[in-house]
Amino acid sequence: MSRDVTLLHPEVKSIIPKFLEECKKQGLIVKITDTLRNKQEQNDLYAQGRTKPGNIVTWVKYPYSNHNWGMAFDVCRDDGRGAYDDSDNWFFKVGEIAKKYDLSWGGDWQPQDKPHFELTKYGTTSYLVDKYGNFENFKKTWQQPEEEGYMFIERNYQYNDKIKSYVVINENGENYIKIRDLADLLNKNISYDNDSKITSLVDIIEEKPIMINNKEATIKCINSGGFNYMNAREIGEALGYDVGYNETIQKIFFKIKKSFIEKLKLFFK
Ligand SMILES: [Zn+2]
Repeated sequence: MSRDVTLLHPEVKSIIPKFLEECKKQGLIVKITDTLRNKQEQNDLYAQGRTKPGNIVTWVKYPYSNHNWGMAFDVCRDDGRGAYDDSDNWFFKVGEIAKKYDLSWGGDWQPQDKPHFELTKYGTTSYLVDKYGNFENFKKTWQQPEEEGYMFIERNYQYNDKIKSYVVINENGENYIKIRDLADLLNKNISYDNDSKITSLVDIIEEKPIMINNKEATIKCINSGGFNYMNAREIGEALGYDVGYNETIQKIFFKIKKSFIEKLKLFFK
């Protein structure tokens, strides 16, 4: 089964980013879990809870689900609570937003299918079967909505262990990400210089507390690739070294502080 929204009908595809954005504005963090299903996938899912173990999750065999026609998608919540936790009427709230975008919500059906959303303006699945015979024929009729110009899609990006999804413009198979989102993904600060007209991404320098021999010190840090790179001079000094740069040998040196040696001498006297 696929989570790829680009497999869906262009109209559904163009609704999704707007719908997700509106949900986000209202504090509802929605994740797409399921989009297009082929015959095998639909019939395997139909078997679940019937001839195979599990709960019943679909009421129809292929090709009578809108998932088989690229007209439906399923969601769950992605806010750290249970994916299907509905104790705060979460799915109802998402359903209300979906209706503003002409989507039908499975929560209105009997029996309910709360995670399910679909666009029914092209007719019921029975109608689609009669008119087109199969999905491939229906797909040939798909056209990109003209007023859009671009296609907005959601894409997952990974930077080391961090995975985030952003809405990007997809044009001729190329994705265009907002530079602000890229900065967010890479943990960079973004700034724009009005005079030079240059947008720059710079590493975020943070101050990190660190304990050295039970004494706390604050060291400037750059987090890159999941590692904290500490300011070498500051960390060296906090550890009791003199830190400097030797021009002739072009090396950074760590040297035990004179005051420390004096103390040692006193100690050994
Ligand atoms: Zn569904």
